Amino acid sequence: MICKICSKTSSKIFRQRILDKYDVDYFQCFSCGFIQTEEPYWLKESYLSPINTEDTGIIKRNILLAKRTSAILFFMFDKKGSFLDYGGGYGLFVRIMRDYGFNFYWSDPFTENLFARGFEYDAARTQKIEVVASFECFEHFADPLQEINKMFSNSDSILFSTEIFTGTPSPDQWKYYYFSHGQHISLFSLDSLRFIAKKYDMHLFTNGKSFHLLTRRSLNNVVFNTLLKLSLLGIPSLISLFMASSTKLDSEAIARTKSLTKENIE
Ligand SMILES: [Zn+2]
Repeated sequence: MICKICSKTSSKIFRQRILDKYDVDYFQCFSCGFIQTEEPYWLKESYLSPINTEDTGIIKRNILLAKRTSAILFFMFDKKGSFLDYGGGYGLFVRIMRDYGFNFYWSDPFTENLFARGFEYDAARTQKIEVVASFECFEHFADPLQEINKMFSNSDSILFSTEIFTGTPSPDQWKYYYFSHGQHISLFSLDSLRFIAKKYDMHLFTNGKSFHLLTRRSLNNVVFNTLLKLSLLGIPSLISLFMASSTKLDSEAIARTKSLTKENIE
């Protein structure tokens, strides 16, 4: 098999039952370490419910991601720019970020937008995106480079989360394979992220575990990691003092759109 990241040879590392139903081969690239499954024919079944039911951490994770993201965006980017949550799920993260005052938009072809309605991303309407955020999506991509191309088409920076590994994680020990739902089909080593950075002429900043930034800008990895640590120590409350929350403005804007639509119908 050919590695989906660096195009070198990817060799079978194990076979595992997923969805309690299919025996699937997993492959690892000898060069960049990227792990991929055989062609994922089972995804329709994996996504019968787009957000998997085992994911009890969804709220906690979104709050934590919003704290980390707000610290990074506030101090390292143009906080007045437009931002996109690529693969934004139910829209919870976009809503939290708009509550902070960051101009975030939502996109996700597979999930219904419940919390960020009215803020769907429209490339024709939105100018350049300062940073694309994509959390817990990379491991779901059947064609990671194609998705990354899309993200970089309108932005110079991708802030994303996916758990990375070293060596070859044992199927018994690394929970992140999530054989139960079979949605994690692309798994990234640090070297595979480095390869992507080089390919796109980007810099890679990472906490070495699950939170990463690919950007054309020359930033500082120490600053990146310090901000991630500070984000858990009250920095987001400080940031909110300097940002104008959109909670009320968004509500008013949506109410206006609704009344205009009603007038048009009448
Ligand atoms: Zn590779």
